[in-house]
Amino acid sequence: MKKSLCPVCDVEVTLENNTEESEIISCPECKTRLVVTSLKMKSAILEEAPKIEEDWGE
Ligand SMILES: [Zn+2]
Repeated sequence: MKKSLCPVCDVEVTLENNTEESEIISCPECKTRLVVTSLKMKSAILEEAPKIEEDWGE
């Protein structure tokens, strides 16, 4: 299991062993969608995922 911190609420988030880079997870505390931006042996970096709008882009 890898551990990381939610960038929004600073709670510790545990990632499954099969979590992959760029995977999107939800913070168990604030429910923010987080992107796994970097994976290390026992930790990971999380960033807030961009919000998906209906007409995202144009
Ligand atoms: Zn959070």
